[in-house]
Amino acid sequence: MKTKSLHLTRREWLKTTGLLGATTALASWPAAAALAAETTTPSAAPVWRAGVARKIITPEKAVWLAGYGSKRAPDGKLHDLWMKALALEDTTGRRVVLITSDFQGVPKGMSDRAFELIRKEHKLEREQIMFTFSHNHCGPRLGDDLVDYYPVEDEQVALVNEYTALMVTQLVALVGEALAQLAPARLQHGEGRATFAVNRRNNREADVPALLASGTPLKGPVDHTVPVLTVTRPDGKLAAILFGYACHPTTLNFRTWCGDYPGFAQLELEKNHPGAAAMFVNTCGGDQNPLPRRSVELCEKYGKMLAVGVEEALKQPLQPVSAGLRTAFELIELPYLKVVTREELTPLLKDTNAIRARWAARMLQKLDALEKFSDSYPYPVHAWRLGKELLFIGQGAETVVDYALRFKREFGPGTWVCGYADDMISYIPSRRVWEEGGYEGGANLYEYGRPAFRWAGDIEDRIAASVHKLVKQVRP
Ligand SMILES: [Zn+2]
Repeated sequence: MKTKSLHLTRREWLKTTGLLGATTALASWPAAAALAAETTTPSAAPVWRAGVARKIITPEKAVWLAGYGSKRAPDGKLHDLWMKALALEDTTGRRVVLITSDFQGVPKGMSDRAFELIRKEHKLEREQIMFTFSHNHCGPRLGDDLVDYYPVEDEQVALVNEYTALMVTQLVALVGEALAQLAPARLQHGEGRATFAVNRRNNREADVPALLASGTPLKGPVDHTVPVLTVTRPDGKLAAILFGYACHPTTLNFRTWCGDYPGFAQLELEKNHPGAAAMFVNTCGGDQNPLPRRSVELCEKYGKMLAVGVEEALKQPLQPVSAGLRTAFELIELPYLKVVTREELTPLLKDTNAIRARWAARMLQKLDALEKFSDSYPYPVHAWRLGKELLFIGQGAETVVDYALRFKREFGPGTWVCGYADDMISYIPSRRVWEEGGYEGGANLYEYGRPAFRWAGDIEDRIAASVHKLVKQVRP
């Protein structure tokens, strides 16, 4: 909607958008000026440039669906899977690209290769790229992610490797497209709510329907907030809606491609806002499930509930994001409690748990080949500051909800804690969850192919120390 026209001189516009002296901006002045003239509020002239790109990634060949520790060959699709990229540039030319995707788990081998190519082709360093995945369990296998979950079939291994290589190529191209689309934009943020995530450690799945029906409060920490960031062009058109939620996309367990609840939420938002890309990040949903579950109706319902949470945020007065981008990144070594030994592995060859037996056989092969297991794993941590208002913390792997609750408390409003960034790795328990043990906190690292059963008990302290250090760098 056009209201007041805004008359800027070319020099004023370049100053406002921080592009004074940039030759590309000079070349595109007439078009940009026309857009600026349609800005609805003079005070909201863009201090950002943004670019958005999308790509369908639904496998064309019979790559199995990922997760759940079983072989699942695809039998069709409910809707397509997507990879999307949002490039942002501040007035000084600093850039970041956030990638969201409907993948279940991105392994280190795949993301490292992508980061290397992106550095070469697009001159972006690791701290400028966050490669997130929704952890969608109706998405395809990739590389050696959860490799021991599946029976080994040579044809399938070849298909997975071929698809993974294709996805790396397409990701690098997608980042290039998003950068090529960089154009003036306003960023705004807000927050909604959605309540379908349940702490799965503290509530038995079978009990949840009755508890909900009787109005009995469910137990355990949850994060029901829906953080929202919008990207709006100077003519008022929405280019992207980035939103987050802390919950496993495990509503469905079948053999049909779809994005689970985040897929339905993105479709709903893109239907409501034609032309805009809806992009989902799983905040810290490692110990959260959508309950009850296991029907397409419920999956669609949760997607719509999440979209309603986003729409509620959009109806509130959104807060502008001021100028300025800062980024910091590091890999920190997270120690295992104890590296597994040949003596511990040998009896597991006959384990009734097929995943554990395959893992033991693979680990023993490595030992036979004289490989020495590392006693720690390089864990990625990001901090991005957008203006004075937003702080994005990115963490690898399946972080439990305690991380989001902690860092939001420690760093205040406007903090997003994105889990499932860059590398699937394993569950990342907090100190509380580690001490409680159980599935996410206990001896689960073998499932992910790590040479150990458990993390050391102090990994939350190590991660928090890194996050605080990086946040200081971006918010000096
Ligand atoms: Zn998971």
